[in-house]
Amino acid sequence: MRLVSVTDPEVPFDAMVRNLFMHVGHKPADGFVLSDLHVPAPGISGDDAKPVDLGNDVQEEWIVPRGAQEEITTPISDVGLHRNFAKLRTADDILQFASEWGYLGVSTLLHRPDLPGSVVPGEQLHRWRKEIRDMHALVALQDMLRGRDLAELSRFVIWREGGVYMEYFVIERDDGLALDERAPWEDVLASGDSVSEGGKARLVGGNLAEIASRTREPETFARLDPLDPLGATGIYLSREVNRRLRMRASPQVLPIRGGEWRLVLPTLRDLMWLQFMWELTPGSGITYCLYCGKQIEGGSQARQYCGNTCRGSAKRDRDRAAAAYQLIVDS
Ligand SMILES: [Zn+2]
Repeated sequence: MRLVSVTDPEVPFDAMVRNLFMHVGHKPADGFVLSDLHVPAPGISGDDAKPVDLGNDVQEEWIVPRGAQEEITTPISDVGLHRNFAKLRTADDILQFASEWGYLGVSTLLHRPDLPGSVVPGEQLHRWRKEIRDMHALVALQDMLRGRDLAELSRFVIWREGGVYMEYFVIERDDGLALDERAPWEDVLASGDSVSEGGKARLVGGNLAEIASRTREPETFARLDPLDPLGATGIYLSREVNRRLRMRASPQVLPIRGGEWRLVLPTLRDLMWLQFMWELTPGSGITYCLYCGKQIEGGSQARQYCGNTCRGSAKRDRDRAAAAYQLIVDS
């Protein structure tokens, strides 16, 4: 845990807090670079997030600081950061985001076997990608929920044998990450490989979670309607964000601020999941346009579009999709 003076005149206190929450991040002043020369230093650890085990035949890549000098970041002032994070695709995108906003909070202490004595905190590129996929999937589901997109959600909210489940795969296509339903990938997952389909799409993740069943949480199960995936999706999203934020913020007194207290979030990752939680909670006043993705300032959480232009464009897209579907059905 690094110490930060909250009286640093360079960093206004307002930029570090939002409502009761406070977060101060760190980044290397000269940014991050990718390294495949570093390996975890024996016997010492970093944050509690373990690196993903890639097996023996995959090259580990680490995001490591370019220099020793660090700077403070105040990402809490940007409430839409988690949505930008969810859009990151290439290693360059990730390096650029990290160089601006700092450590995600999945650091491991690394060294270079060829340069004894140098230990640096580094973050596994793969670990970043996993977190990006998770955020991407949950943001996509949240947008389907807000758009009341029953057809899309019904692909992922599955009812069977007295239970309701959230099932999706995350695939990487040329135009970015997307959610896909179970069927085409079932054999691929069973074989344990990640696989490309004509080089066009790559399976990069997936999820299978029970939301409720007759035997587990029967009261919740009884309240859910098989024809309406919205309720089940809402429960799933709340659980996922709660799970990630459990034990992550702690109350701290700020003696320099005359004994004020705040809920302090230790890492950028925690902060971005909090930002996602704000989207789910009515009354936070934070929501995003379902068409352009821009944050809608103020107003009600029920608002779906930033204005008439986006509302019109979204309707045009829907009509076009419906017409295309009709063509397929008719032919
Ligand atoms: Zn818009």
